[in-house]
Amino acid sequence: MVLPTLSITERLADFLKGKKKLYINGEWVESATGKTFETLNPATGEVLAEVYEAGEEDVNRAVEAARYAFDEGEWSRLGTADRSRLIYKLADLMEAHKEELAQLDTLDNGKPIRETTAADVPLAIEHFRYYAGWATKIVGQTIPVQGDFFTYTRHEPVGVVGQIIPWNFPLLMAAWKLGAALASGCTIVLKPAEQTPLSALYLAQLAEEAGFPKGVLNVIPGFGETAGAPLVKHPLVNKIAFTGSTEVGKSIMAEASKSLKRVTLELGGKSPNIILPDADMTRAIPGALSGIMFNQGQVCCAGSRLFIQKKSFDNVMADLVSHSKSIKQGEGLNSETEMGPLVSKEQQNRVVNYINKGKEEGAELLTGGKFTEKGYFVEPTIFADVDDRMTIAKEEIFGPVVAAMPFEDLDEVIERANRTNYGLAAGLWTENVKSAHYVANRIKAGTVWVNCYNAFDAAAPFGGYKESGIGREMGSYALNNYNEIKTVWINMN
Ligand code: ADP
Repeated sequence: MVLPTLSITERLADFLKGKKKLYINGEWVESATGKTFETLNPATGEVLAEVYEAGEEDVNRAVEAARYAFDEGEWSRLGTADRSRLIYKLADLMEAHKEELAQLDTLDNGKPIRETTAADVPLAIEHFRYYAGWATKIVGQTIPVQGDFFTYTRHEPVGVVGQIIPWNFPLLMAAWKLGAALASGCTIVLKPAEQTPLSALYLAQLAEEAGFPKGVLNVIPGFGETAGAPLVKHPLVNKIAFTGSTEVGKSIMAEASKSLKRVTLELGGKSPNIILPDADMTRAIPGALSGIMFNQGQVCCAGSRLFIQKKSFDNVMADLVSHSKSIKQGEGLNSETEMGPLVSKEQQNRVVNYINKGKEEGAELLTGGKFTEKGYFVEPTIFADVDDRMTIAKEEIFGPVVAAMPFEDLDEVIERANRTNYGLAAGLWTENVKSAHYVANRIKAGTVWVNCYNAFDAAAPFGGYKESGIGREMGSYALNNYNEIKTVWINMN
């Protein structure tokens, strides 16, 4: 099944040589303890690179550098047009290195090169360009009030921001976090996921080349407990932005509440995807399949609960299975590959456990379910006859596994779709504009896609209702996360 690997660029081969250092205060440094960890290629299980592992002392160094850069460094005096230019420059450099960035995320995460090339990297570049534009457009208001006062608001950057990101879209998640923070004038300590630390380090190299003042962006690869947790606790950090599991998100919020640090969270999901009988099935079926299988199902908004109207259930399932069987699975660097391995052995085990649970609890396995010993592959998997109470219908699997369920009428499916603690996204397939608005208005989720799925744009906000998170990333909305509002009253008497 695993297709042969293509070669990587010379620049990337150079980058992968030697132990990768932390980026703190504009310098490449070893971790204080000298400890390193290995990041693996999930297609083969082989070591891709050795990376210095940040611990508490490194977190302290990085936060102090970010604090100084924010309070007293060159960044704090930089004009907004200069700030904008630096972010544009970073985007231009990413464009000049787009092949390396795509290959790097493919190697570190496993995802197909056709996706990193067509989605992760261009979306990340556009994200920086979008927020580069905002740097010069963050404005307050002048407010007419009762009495003889001149009253206005200032939008001031929140300060030092700790950003903790997951492994499913390593470069894109870094971009989502950094864009709005840099545009607002914050300084940052970014902790990439331990499974995929490399593209954030590559990005730091490009930020250095772009000329960001030292201390503005610090990148400290490491583990959750030993690098993430001290960052959340640190008294000099003003805000934490986190993307990851709901469980860790809750613990971060509890810790941050002790000092009332600002917190935004982008967490898990169990998103419903609803196919109405009047849908254009030639689009709905491949759309629903890609809604769950994209990125090997390792997407927080994956359409993992597929609701199909009873009348069309068997036909839709038959088509879905045949499309699923045609997915080309293999090593990510091959341009033919449509689905790569999962990110890690741990993730593979977790997904396989859920597949076993689905079978035990009586769901019907229509296709897939197998996994490999070498490389962390799991076949695209479809379960039918799923009951809402089964584990695979309730818990986030974060893998290429869909639970398909029949429904009778619209109000019933809306009620069942909303019967979850999550609320990140939802999909709907219909040719009826009234049904589209009816469902879109009633679904309790941060995003509703109609006749599409996984559509993203830097200008369109994204985030969760309920236990899927707090706050919105992207668009003008994300700027709220990185700005404090100050009201100034001037007595004119
Ligand atoms: P997953 O289970 O998908 O790996 P996690 O929520 O565990 O998701 O991880 C997402 C990010 O959060 C990673 O960068 C990870 O290192 C970090 N992380 C994990 N645990 C903690 C923690 N207790 N405090 C801060 N960060 C953490």
